[in-house]
Amino acid sequence: MEALLKHLIDITCQRDHTLLDSSVVSALHDLVGADQVRVHELFRFRDQMYIRPKTWIENGKAVSAEDCMTADQYKGEPISRYPILLDAIQKQLESVTQATPGIGHTLWMPIWLQDKVNTCIEIVNPTPYSESTMHVMEGILSVYRNYQNILDYSERDSLTGLLNRKTFDEKFSRMLAASIADAPPQNQEERRQGGVEKGQWLAVVDIDHFKRVNDQFGHLYGDEVLILVANLLRASFRSQDRVFRFGGEEFVVLLRSTTLEEADRIFERFRRNVEKHEFPQVGQVTVSLGFAAITQESPVVILGHADQALYYAKENGRNRVCHYDKLVDSGLLRSEVSNDTVEFF
Ligand code: GH3
Ligand code: MG
Ligand code: MG
Repeated sequence: MEALLKHLIDITCQRDHTLLDSSVVSALHDLVGADQVRVHELFRFRDQMYIRPKTWIENGKAVSAEDCMTADQYKGEPISRYPILLDAIQKQLESVTQATPGIGHTLWMPIWLQDKVNTCIEIVNPTPYSESTMHVMEGILSVYRNYQNILDYSERDSLTGLLNRKTFDEKFSRMLAASIADAPPQNQEERRQGGVEKGQWLAVVDIDHFKRVNDQFGHLYGDEVLILVANLLRASFRSQDRVFRFGGEEFVVLLRSTTLEEADRIFERFRRNVEKHEFPQVGQVTVSLGFAAITQESPVVILGHADQALYYAKENGRNRVCHYDKLVDSGLLRSEVSNDTVEFF
């Protein structure tokens, strides 16, 4: 009882999804004495559902994918490789068990929020689960589900449903720490000449002449444009990338593990998706985008680079994608080192 309370207190004092996942994994591992506990993310990609581990137990401690996963692992596996789980999801079941010789008893627990599922817990134990163990696990999962709802609310922007600026600060620091652990340090020169190796990229997106939309059509239409651009952002990037509403009509995209050429292509495709979208009443809306490599420099410097590239795009016709290093290399932009807080449009 005391251990249970201790874990409940730990779960409910977390302020972000990654820490919440870690405390739930630790609680289930300790209280149930399971061999392995994993939290998986479930996501759709080209009409297929995929599964990817987010948090699991390693050497008795909870480990998070954001801190250590390689790009290939991050892609996940098609859920069709786990037919029992797929069947449980199609039937909207709360849990399903599976006995596999040599592995043990696996309990899958999809976390349903209304009729949607994007998280699933996997618990592996050598022996079957008793009724009282199931009871404890179900209780913990109810707390987890409720708490996820609350966190979603605080991490997201209420108009567009995208992650908010506060969440960006946390996620970006984590991504920087992970990329430092993942890649050997490169100097500025190598980074600029290379272009073939995979890197992480940060883009700042700003809607062009958005004030005119508000002025001509009113705030409600302006809000609708923001929602539709957010939907186009969601549709244009992969599940492992992250999209944030930074404030007003500005968005930030973090692209993981992509070559410069790919990043350029992906950002350009998004720009075109917006350009060719027919916005009700308003008609055509365009965006400008500046992007920069995520290096070991500070978040303020990286954001500053993307912001300088965006500024260049705005000054040179708008509705375009500009890459900071390319502009610096071609002498169109001067590299500025600044420790000031970044000013966006
Ligand atoms: P530029 O191409 O240089 O970016 O021009 P712009 O008009 O987009 O930029 P500016 O910064 O002058 O205007 C941004 C406008 O966005 C002003 C502000 O009223 C509007 N805005 C900010 N947040 C919201 C919002 O939540 N809803 C609506 N409808 N408008 C917003
Ligand atoms: Mg703007
Ligand atoms: Mg702006």
